[in-house]
Amino acid sequence: MQRYKKVDENRKLLLSPYEKFIKSVKRCLNTELLVGVFSVINETFKFNTATIKYPFEKIKLDNRYRAVHRLQRFIESESERCIGCGLCEKICISNCIRMQTELGSDGRKLVSNYSINLGRCIYCGFCAEVCPELAIVHGVEYENACEQRAYFAHKKDILTPIDKLKEQVEFEGAGALRKDASAFVKKTPNYYEIELAAKGEENV
Ligand code: SF4
Ligand code: SF4
Repeated sequence: MQRYKKVDENRKLLLSPYEKFIKSVKRCLNTELLVGVFSVINETFKFNTATIKYPFEKIKLDNRYRAVHRLQRFIESESERCIGCGLCEKICISNCIRMQTELGSDGRKLVSNYSINLGRCIYCGFCAEVCPELAIVHGVEYENACEQRAYFAHKKDILTPIDKLKEQVEFEGAGALRKDASAFVKKTPNYYEIELAAKGEENV
């Protein structure tokens, strides 16, 4: 059962020096101080450190941590995932995403530039959540200080380089596919034909 303590609204807020002394003596006699000292000594000799020597040591952040964005590529084809739909630009509440698109030589839309003003970004994650292609995601790189605001951040800075494609991390969390996503993909008639052919059966 919840026990409530009635606060005396007319209580004296300022204590006289004598009252403060009495209060301190009472605290010492109640061994509150000794309990505190004992806890400190106890923790000291456990040698459990709760802090790290940053920047010499760094903790591994969870993939759900929302730090500087990454623009992802398809691992198989190496092409960029972003289709320039503009949804991230529209949803951004800090109005800090800008992109330029043009017609590519193959007749498809080409995202010629994509920039995020990280000085304005509040890392809300909306852009990653709305992206239908899982192209823009949050990485775990949080050390993003730089000398010029103009460096915050252009497409070349956040797009996965082709030679580092194998290091590209597929993020779980906001805007990412769940691990068992394949189980929810609706099978097409073509899929059944391939499945039957693999079993050596004919489609009727
Ligand atoms: S994280 Fe939020 S504020 Fe930052 S770019 Fe994305 S939508 Fe905009
Ligand atoms: S929502 Fe995704 S696919 Fe659309 S423009 Fe933004 S990053 Fe590209």
